[in-house]
Amino acid sequence: MSAKAYFRNIYDTVKSISIGMSITLKYCFQNTVTVQYPEQRLALAPRYRGIHEFQADLCIACDQCAKACPVDCIYIEKSAPRKIDKATGKAAGGELQRFAIDYSKCMFCALCTEPCPTSCIHMGKLHDHSGYSRREAVVEFTELDKLGQRTPLPLWMDRNADKIPWVEDERKRIKAGQLATNAADIPGR
Ligand code: SF4
Ligand code: SF4
Repeated sequence: MSAKAYFRNIYDTVKSISIGMSITLKYCFQNTVTVQYPEQRLALAPRYRGIHEFQADLCIACDQCAKACPVDCIYIEKSAPRKIDKATGKAAGGELQRFAIDYSKCMFCALCTEPCPTSCIHMGKLHDHSGYSRREAVVEFTELDKLGQRTPLPLWMDRNADKIPWVEDERKRIKAGQLATNAADIPGR
């Protein structure tokens, strides 16, 4: 290598490090765009699509949602046809034996909510579903309904609700079987 090429290499190296460090320094003095979740959180959009909320008492097991699902991740089993009882406004007839969604496949497209004739499946506002195995990614909504819940309560939320006020509010809402609203009512920081 010639002396000229040697010093050219040194010059290029110092120049590229200077450019990189100047970009790094610039970001050091800008406002942060991330938050310390879950103690802090960003506001969600009004039509945010999170883990589903399901009203089993209104479901007539017509399979329309399962047919609309592009990845076939909704599983429905019934003992006999169901329909809405005009007197009670609730689904009656056969038993809804299973309504489950596999969240290892779901892509949160919301196509399942569009054709539902009784509007009993909605996109919720929680995104924190987690588990220790793939099997736990399958949410059995009919089992949750027996507990009075419309949507699963994330494990970490249940364990940390006492420490974080908004998590405690969400835990109460889910355990009471209340649906999330469509408004962007989850506050920011
Ligand atoms: S959100 Fe989309 S992928 Fe998920 S269950 Fe509904 S239709 Fe299927
Ligand atoms: S479309 Fe609605 S009523 Fe029909 S099976 Fe799905 S959730 Fe139930």
